Amino acid sequence: MIPYGRQRISAADIDAVVEALQSPLITQGPRVAAFEQAIADYCHAPYGVALSSATAALHVACLTLNVGPGDLVWTVPNTFVASANCARYCGAEVDFVDIDPTTGNLCVQALAAKLAHAQHTGRLPKVIIPVHFAGASCDMQAIAALTKPLGIFIIEDASHAIGGRYQNLPVGACTYSDFTVFSFHPVKIITTGEGGVLTTRNQALAERAQELRSHGITRDPKRMEAKHPEPWYYEQRELGFNYRMTDIQAALGLSQLSQLDTFVATRNELASQYRKAFSNTKVAFLQLSEQVYSSYHLFVIQVPAAQRLQLFNDLRAANIGVHVHYIPVHWQPDFRPLGFARGQFPQSELYYNQAITLPLYVDLSASEQEHIIQTLLALAKHWE
Ligand SMILES: *Cc1c(COP(=O)(O)O)cnc(C)c1O
Repeated sequence: MIPYGRQRISAADIDAVVEALQSPLITQGPRVAAFEQAIADYCHAPYGVALSSATAALHVACLTLNVGPGDLVWTVPNTFVASANCARYCGAEVDFVDIDPTTGNLCVQALAAKLAHAQHTGRLPKVIIPVHFAGASCDMQAIAALTKPLGIFIIEDASHAIGGRYQNLPVGACTYSDFTVFSFHPVKIITTGEGGVLTTRNQALAERAQELRSHGITRDPKRMEAKHPEPWYYEQRELGFNYRMTDIQAALGLSQLSQLDTFVATRNELASQYRKAFSNTKVAFLQLSEQVYSSYHLFVIQVPAAQRLQLFNDLRAANIGVHVHYIPVHWQPDFRPLGFARGQFPQSELYYNQAITLPLYVDLSASEQEHIIQTLLALAKHWE
């Protein structure tokens, strides 16, 4: 089966991991700090904090913004459950803003309408988490223009989008946000096995995130209550977690990062092959704004809803490992007791009913892509 996504691990990646394994510190060594700096530099952001996953990064980002019981966090239904769960970990409530089905991203008009209503009822969110679906940045300038005057914080869930650009700056520069979160799960653009990084322009938020990922502990005398700490002394300043990335993972991440731009260029080439092959057919694509360079984590097509299940089964039968991104989060059984039901976010549901994700990864060969294209063209011919 051709998978929908897969990591590429080179000989240089393996050498980097072996070297890390042979060094004295295999966790909390120099490579984590080097990886954080390299991501921050790549993104043009002053601070990077590495964590054990993007989920952990989203949780810590919410905690540093003091999200807690009584607070409200907004995200979109068209995402992985982690974008919503991070608020629930903090005891906060979640709500959703509908998407624009032509991009898969948060709909700015829906956000404006929901904010107007929330101002009226006095229930504004503390944080909003836009998701850069499939690797294409949301319209961050418009989102910030609506939310910043109301004092709402912004966490970009860029789990799909490292290597992508918005207004000619790397995603992660945090021009319009408080944090950006990346995932390095193996299906994403670059991998550390499991892992995530958050970037920010705010030093205090970065320092608090560093502490929260390691039990809330500081070893920095400047951040301690004790006036004359002994050399072995440390302080737990608040309740944190073990959300650390290892040096072994960071070694892989550093090596992967050096290949990021070529990975993203290859993904864009594969995407343009798909677009060319299916132009003038009933297969539709997500639209990209002029301000966006996508990292193409996913290649999503839109097909008639009545054909979707059959097409999925036929492509799987032809050894093509298609997927669907995403089942609307508010449809999940675990969100029902929170008051959510089908029909509440119609654009996300409309989009979902027509979506199929085709295989897209750096090592997808020309002959594999040709097999996918020819199989799909033959199937699409029979649609009304
Ligand atoms: C993958 C993903 C996450 C979670 O990433 P992990 O590193 O696996 O925790 C969060 N949000 C989105 C949109 C994702 O695709």
